[in-house]
Amino acid sequence: MNTDTIAAIATFLGNAGINIIRISGNNALDIAKKIFVKNGKNDLDLKPRYLHYGHIVDDNNKVIDEVLISYMKAPNTYTKENIIEINCHGGLISAKKILETVLLHDCRAAERGEFTKRAFLNGRIDLAQAEAVIDIINSKTDSSHEISVNHLEGRLSREINEIIEEILDLLANIEVNIDFPEYDEDEVTINKVKELSESLVNELDRLIKTADTGKIFKEGIKTVILGKPNVGKSSLMNFLLNENRAIVTEIPGTTRDTIEEYVNIKGVPLRIIDTAGIRDTDDKVEKIGVEKALSKVDEADLVIMVFDSSTDLEEDDEYIINYVKNKKVVYISNKTDLPRKLNLKKYENIEKELINISILKNQGLEEIINKVNQMFFEGSINISDELIINNVRHKNLLIKAKNSLKEVLNSINNQMTIDFIDIDLKQAMESLGLIVGKTVSDDLMDKIFNEFCIGK
Ligand code: GDP
Repeated sequence: MNTDTIAAIATFLGNAGINIIRISGNNALDIAKKIFVKNGKNDLDLKPRYLHYGHIVDDNNKVIDEVLISYMKAPNTYTKENIIEINCHGGLISAKKILETVLLHDCRAAERGEFTKRAFLNGRIDLAQAEAVIDIINSKTDSSHEISVNHLEGRLSREINEIIEEILDLLANIEVNIDFPEYDEDEVTINKVKELSESLVNELDRLIKTADTGKIFKEGIKTVILGKPNVGKSSLMNFLLNENRAIVTEIPGTTRDTIEEYVNIKGVPLRIIDTAGIRDTDDKVEKIGVEKALSKVDEADLVIMVFDSSTDLEEDDEYIINYVKNKKVVYISNKTDLPRKLNLKKYENIEKELINISILKNQGLEEIINKVNQMFFEGSINISDELIINNVRHKNLLIKAKNSLKEVLNSINNQMTIDFIDIDLKQAMESLGLIVGKTVSDDLMDKIFNEFCIGK
């Protein structure tokens, strides 16, 4: 058990309603009793799990802020230690001053993710669940959030632990065989190992395959909208964003040419690269915009190519068609409210797939999403029922475990001795154990918890 006490501001400093300072550890309660006053008195009896109204004072007894304070008694807390949470007024100053006052006592500033790390070290959650906490915080789409909440609830951990148990059982059988060869149950044991390894390889394979979906949900389908000027790209973009805008991120070090917008349309998570000029009506800038957009095609998972159905095919269209021919593309013909002049005879395949829409009349837009859904999820997204891997570390360990089990099967086929099987089975178990953190090095822990924010 950790004995030192840590403190941090758990909320985002800024113009918000409240901020929360969190203290965890053996001294949390004592510190609170010293700095929290009500009607001029300190050393109050802070009943657990109640909100207490009062003030925080500095070491000169000067009031810093009016607060609500709560005491959560170990072990039923986030860290399994005593926790004090101080709700103060928002803004930049109050929380900082309160934290400074807290840190004057026997307590130190928490490192990134240290509260969650303690939750892990003290056995309240396992490593996969701790990672789910980061993923919940970092979620940019509803679906990604839902997958991570599932993991925090322990769904992945349960499945992994069950597999570990099954392998452990087998290992016990094998050990008996090694220790007491006179029982001569080799064949029975080998058959059992074979059967289970085969079924586990399939099960792990199924889980590993979900990682592609998990990645898409986590990162969104990176999408570029292309088309010659004036076909309706910005109208489409605005339509998609107006209804569904989730988050706008600007990638540091770049200008506005790589603003990415996350949208969630009927569960389909799109991360639309909004390239400079796309929204500009000025022709010159617009041209640059098309070039910029084209330069993003390489990194895109999906291209939405827009034609103007009221104009015939032009050089620009053909240039783009060629440019994106190796990508996943949704072809759209916009402005179908106007008489059609677009002739795609030369491109029969595109004509066949063409989705006719009129953004102006709000027609055909749903089909775009249905199409994307089909392309990436074969028409069905069902994150609630399925366990989905959304973490690269987990995926890699599952692959490692699967490979070890394949080695087991190889050894059996090649009639190797039972010792060989034993080693690979243990290896598989170890890889799976690393997912839930049964054995975990300090380095790995540092790496994982450093991804957290302070105060979590
Ligand atoms: P961009 O240059 O490709 O981004 O195209 P815009 O979105 O700026 O649209 C160009 C023009 O086409 C604007 O005047 C839009 O109002 C118009 N427009 C967009 N969608 C439609 C549509 O479905 N039908 C018609 N008739 N006009 C449209």
